[in-house]
Amino acid sequence: ARDVTEQRHSQEMLIAALDKERTAVERLRSLDQAKNEFVSTVSHELRTPVTSIVGYTEMMSDGSIVEPLPEQLPLLETINRNGQRLIAMINDLLMLSGLDSDSVAWRHDPVDLAATVGPIEDAIRPLLHGRHLTLETDRPTGMVPVLGDRAQLERVMINLLSNAVKFTEDGGTVAFTVGTDGDDAVITVRDTGIGIPAAEQAELFQRFFRSSTAQVRQIQGTGLGLSIVAAIVSGHGGTIEVESEHMQGSTFTVRLPLAPSERLTRAV
Ligand code: ADP
Repeated sequence: ARDVTEQRHSQEMLIAALDKERTAVERLRSLDQAKNEFVSTVSHELRTPVTSIVGYTEMMSDGSIVEPLPEQLPLLETINRNGQRLIAMINDLLMLSGLDSDSVAWRHDPVDLAATVGPIEDAIRPLLHGRHLTLETDRPTGMVPVLGDRAQLERVMINLLSNAVKFTEDGGTVAFTVGTDGDDAVITVRDTGIGIPAAEQAELFQRFFRSSTAQVRQIQGTGLGLSIVAAIVSGHGGTIEVESEHMQGSTFTVRLPLAPSERLTRAV
């Protein structure tokens, strides 16, 4: 009889411990949600005044409200450029606060990644303007179908490619491939750029991370792009990995599950 009492006692302790853990998890979750709501509200509030600053500096520079003095033009352009950066950062924050809340309802549309390569190249081309970089792209002849949100998946590829362009010096190469490997769709973005020091790679996908090399060279950025990429990829059931050597280059590899229909036809 003592054994039974002891057993019951330890069961009760276990249940109490589990309850405590559950309450802690719930508290963390609601804190996380409160944080996301806060970031989202603040970002919305910031966007309106910054948009007005940017709008007016544009109208002043192009002479549509007043004719600026020649020496005022570069100042207006600086205000405008920094305003644009603020808007980009605010949009990234808004995106992130929505992305990591559990409420994101991911679209599950069939998306052929092979067919996105052309439009992505078109989107990246303006970034290559005035740069001496070689852009190599490679896509399979067949389809690379995944289930997901096309706009978000394009955002992943565009973010990785624009980083590759930004962090690679003239004379370098940026290579973009889309293909399959077993049951996975695989996207790779490789560059011959400044790379990421090994000691810093663990932090790469954290918000606001900027490598020491990027900071020393004063390459602009917010450190939000890769955390957005990582959130979208994991929201699609995929993984992202990086291989990088300082001052030699980096390769980002994204794996996403191929759409089930594709797996079936392959299995036949
Ligand atoms: P941002 O580019 O706005 O700084 P990201 O989140 O996209 O923000 O990238 C975070 C940091 O990771 C960058 O500041 C840079 O230090 C490093 N990084 C990202 N991509 C590359 C790359 N292709 N080559 C070298 N460093 C990179």
